[in-house]
Amino acid sequence: MNVPVANPIIDERELELVIKTVKSGWISSAGENISKFEDKFAEFCNTKYAITTSNGTSALHLCLVAYSIGPGDEVIVPSMTFVATANAVVYTGAKPVFVDSEFDTWNIDPENIESKITPKTKAIIPVHLYGHPAKMDKIIKIAQKYNLIIIEDAAEAHGARYNNKIVGSIGNAGCFSFYGNKIITTGEGGMITTSNKAIADKIRTLRNHGSSPERKYYYPELGFNYRMTNIQAAIGLAQLEKITDNIERKKEIHATYCEYLQPLHNKITMQPNAEWAESVFWMFSILLASNGKISRDSLIDILHKKGIESRPFFFPLHKYIRFNNKDKLPVSEYLGNCGISLPSGPKLSRKEIRYVCDEIISILD
Ligand SMILES: *Cc1c(COP(=O)(O)O)cnc(C)c1O
Repeated sequence: MNVPVANPIIDERELELVIKTVKSGWISSAGENISKFEDKFAEFCNTKYAITTSNGTSALHLCLVAYSIGPGDEVIVPSMTFVATANAVVYTGAKPVFVDSEFDTWNIDPENIESKITPKTKAIIPVHLYGHPAKMDKIIKIAQKYNLIIIEDAAEAHGARYNNKIVGSIGNAGCFSFYGNKIITTGEGGMITTSNKAIADKIRTLRNHGSSPERKYYYPELGFNYRMTNIQAAIGLAQLEKITDNIERKKEIHATYCEYLQPLHNKITMQPNAEWAESVFWMFSILLASNGKISRDSLIDILHKKGIESRPFFFPLHKYIRFNNKDKLPVSEYLGNCGISLPSGPKLSRKEIRYVCDEIISILD
C-alpha cells in the first residue's frame, strides 16, 4: 500500500472553470474570477474584505507592510511554525521575536508573550497550527494593553473556529495559503482577510506595485507584484465549493485515527482538541514520548519503508543559527523533536488509516 501524506481533490469542476478561463484569454491577474473568489472567501470568513495574493507568504508580507511594520520594529511569533511566518517579518526589516508554545494547543503560549514585549514590539502573529485555533482572547487582551496589531496566520486553518468566531476574522487581519496540501488549494496562492477598509485598500495597492488608484502607470510608493492569476482563482472558486466537505473529511480522519490509535494512549499524545475550539485538523499529528522505544525520525523511516508518508513537525525557528537566538523554548523544542504528522489528505480511506495505525501500533507497542 502507498499512502501519501496529502492529496488534494481536484475534479471535473476545477477543469471546467479552468478551461473556461483559459479560453476567455483572461489568464493573468485581471479577470472576473479574482473578485468572485475574494467576495466568496470574505463571506466564508465573515470579514468585509478578502484580497487574493500569490501565496501565503506574500499575504503575510503584504499585511505587515500595510501595517507599516519595518526596520527597528519587533513582531512576536511562535517558534513552532512554518518558516514563512518569521521570514515575512524579516522581509520587512523587522525582527521576529520567538515565543514558546503551550502543550494544550501546540500554539503560541499567551502566558509567555508579555515578557517578550518591548517598546519596539508592533504586532503579534498567532499561528493556528495544524488547524487548531490559538487562544485568541488572551492574545487580544495583551494586544489591547500594549497597542499591538494581531495578524492571524491561518494558513493551515481555513474554517476553524475559536469560541464560534471563524479564524481570519478575529485579529486585525488574517492570512491564508492555498498551497497544494492546505485545506483548499489553488496550486500556489494566498488570501488576506480584514474588515478594515483602509488596510484592504492599502493591500490592494501594495499588491500591484504600489499603483495609484487615480492615475494609470503611476507608482508613488514601493509595492510588489504579489497578484494571483485568474486561472488560480478559477481553481479557487471550484475548491471553495468543496471546502465544507474537505473540513468534514479532516474531522472524520481525526476521529478515525483517535479511535484506531486508542491502544497507544499511554505511549503517544494525541492532537489537541480543546472544548472551546473547532479545529479543522489540517494534518493529523501525534507526539511520541521523548524517552520512548524509538525516535520520531526512526518511526518516519520505518513508515516510509511500509509505503506510508509522514512528516516531522517544523524545526523550532529560534534554533536556526541565522536568527542568532539564545532562548530556551522547551515546549517548542519538544514538539519539534517528538511531533509527527500522519497521512491526512481528503482522499484517505478508513482502510488506509487502519493500515497506518496497525503499523504504528506494531512498531511502538
Ligand atoms: C503554508 C504556510 C504558510 C505559507 O504559505 P505558502 O502559500 O506556502 O507561501 C505560512 N504559514 C504557515 C503556518 C503555513 O503552514
